[in-house]
Amino acid sequence: MRYNRLGRTALTVSELSFGAAPLGSVYGAFAEQDGIDAVHTALDLGINFFDVAPYYGATTAESALGRALRGVDRDSYLLATKVGRYGAADFDFGAERVKGSVTESLDRLGTDHLDLIQCHDIEFGSLDRIVEETLPALRELQQAGLVRYVGITGYPLPVLGYVAARTPVDSVLSYCRHTLHDRRLAGWKHRFATYGTGVINASPLAMGALTARGAPDWHPGSAELRERCAAAAELCGAAGVDLAKLALQFSVSTTHAATTLVGTHDPDDVRRNVAWLAEPMDRELLIRVEACLEPVRDRGWTSGRAAVRGPGERA
Ligand code: NAD
Repeated sequence: MRYNRLGRTALTVSELSFGAAPLGSVYGAFAEQDGIDAVHTALDLGINFFDVAPYYGATTAESALGRALRGVDRDSYLLATKVGRYGAADFDFGAERVKGSVTESLDRLGTDHLDLIQCHDIEFGSLDRIVEETLPALRELQQAGLVRYVGITGYPLPVLGYVAARTPVDSVLSYCRHTLHDRRLAGWKHRFATYGTGVINASPLAMGALTARGAPDWHPGSAELRERCAAAAELCGAAGVDLAKLALQFSVSTTHAATTLVGTHDPDDVRRNVAWLAEPMDRELLIRVEACLEPVRDRGWTSGRAAVRGPGERA
């Protein structure tokens, strides 16, 4: 496992990190022990960065991660969670709410501090409020020692870039933007570096779309995107390769981000994912899969309020 510094923070993160959204049953039900084993397997294999949110499974992911980490040396891992999003359409970026949210997250996660707190899906909030109220409230928690660093997450890159340009943010988490079918995060490399903002590359498997099993029902991608991803999975299957392997290898080995967050509640997935990083990528297959995904290349979906997304962001 390689390790990278996250922007200008003092956090040294593993190049592959653990996304705990699946611990909220976001990708289907799972046995609690499997989730715990997945977390411990990740730790054993050198993964040191864990990302979660109160939104995932309506707080159940945080509680499950907290139970999995109980008794584990707190200095052996870095913990990130979020504030501001509490349901599919339930957002509150108010200062008092986000401060209360951090206290609740600390309790569920069984810790006295977070390594990173992130405003969750800022494109659904008012960006003025995020800059003028939410981030300052989180900086107060930083002063008080409850959180070490403060970041933002979301889907539209111009929105993340806009806020990072207006005020210092320690990290941005971007998802589904450095995958086999979408490379747009790379275009932001220099800007985020200039702002001193660390980059977290989440969802290398495009939230399940780039797996043999395919995207879950709630996936926001178009029918064409699903169809092209399914065709890519078939193409890989015929070559005896798991699409998830190619997708993960591609995303991790070509990103400029400090870490790539992949989610699972299955310890076998964790083992496979770490093992795949050490294997060479099938470049001939990559070319064929890229051709298959070309019709949907860099075409995602819209996320957030139209007034916030602003110009320059196409689906
Ligand atoms: P992902 O792209 O990591 O894909 C997860 C899916 O892939 C799950 O269904 C999982 O079971 C499956 N999978 C994982 N390893 C596999 C393997 N080896 N073989 C086959 N299937 C495998 O999507 P994600 O989990 O949504 O994203 C990663 C993490 O990033 C999340 O858990 C979350 O922590 C974070 N995230 C944050 C935001 C945000 O802040 N707005 C958005 C998306 C993701």
